Amino acid sequence: MKKNKNKTKVLVTGAGGFIGHHLVKFLKDKGYWVRGVDIVKPEFESTQADEFLLLDLQEKANALQACQNMDHVYALAADMGGMGFISKHHSRILHNNALINLHTVDAASKSGVSRYFYASSACIYPNYLQQKATVTPLKEKDAYPADPQDAYGWEKLVTEKLVEYYGQEHGLETRVARFHNIFGPLSKWEGGREKAPTAICRKVAYAKLTKNPEVEVWGDGQQTRSFCYIDDCLTGIYQLMMSDYDQPLNIGQDRLVTINELVEIVAEAAGIKVKKKHVKGPQGVRGRNSDNTKVKKVLGWKPQVSLEKGLQKTYRWVEKQVKQKLKKQES
Ligand code: NAD
Repeated sequence: MKKNKNKTKVLVTGAGGFIGHHLVKFLKDKGYWVRGVDIVKPEFESTQADEFLLLDLQEKANALQACQNMDHVYALAADMGGMGFISKHHSRILHNNALINLHTVDAASKSGVSRYFYASSACIYPNYLQQKATVTPLKEKDAYPADPQDAYGWEKLVTEKLVEYYGQEHGLETRVARFHNIFGPLSKWEGGREKAPTAICRKVAYAKLTKNPEVEVWGDGQQTRSFCYIDDCLTGIYQLMMSDYDQPLNIGQDRLVTINELVEIVAEAAGIKVKKKHVKGPQGVRGRNSDNTKVKKVLGWKPQVSLEKGLQKTYRWVEKQVKQKLKKQES
């Protein structure tokens, strides 16, 4: 049942992107009035936002326009992508995301916004703790001494501090989540910005539909990660936003899998056997997992959707996209 929030007005930045688009739907369902802001409209279906503004948040005036008359802000806008993108565009990522975040939090505080959610990342965690595939799950306090692998992680870490200082000095209630590999339907699956789960779904879908069982895997496939389904991420974001906890919290799965295992789970969802071909490619840190002790204690939150279930849903959606693409190429 829809709850009436007395039309509290919320802004979702990055509402044209994967998590932002799903978050708009989630908040609409809870009864909020939602403004979405992005430089692009959602790629795979229409937005449900009450108002959708195409604004570049690297511009200060646009950030002020975005935050005008808003009660809450969910700051998700970022110039980002999967490992292929993050490992190639350090200066661009640091420059663009720093501008987006500097302007958005300042505009929120100047516009009388009361609550501010910032989407940080597991990429803030130090390289020196992630060098083995059998990695110890990362606790929030492990962030320091800082040594993120890429500019993407450094920028996220600086913005965590920026948001914290705005909270302390400008009376903004701030909430920070460190997402660990969020995945699901309606996210990029080709083009260079896609992440491992949808990229693997695409490769397996091509293997199935073209009857060529070979699937390329970057590196030896023994690198490990945990993957969290979008529905769990959304409830985590919302529970955190509604809580009184103002320190960064992990939002992720704590089940560690190798990339090779991920390929096998997707192949199972597709109902085929694949042949992995290991090729050179960016792999990021060797291993990464989320320690969920704190988030369970503070919010009582834990992921509900298994990796198999989440990947089945994601695979089905990606296979449909691949089918449509192949059909277009034939005609
Ligand atoms: P996404 O790339 O799908 O969405 C980000 C959106 O921000 C895009 O639609 C993009 O157009 C928009 N954007 C970029 N530059 C902008 C600008 N100058 N002004 C306004 N909008 C702009 O990414 P996502 O997966 O939905 O991630 C959302 C947030 O969560 C990001 O901040 C990301 O860094 C963070 N995060 C995501 C993951 C994940 O696994 N998806 C993991 C860790 C952190």
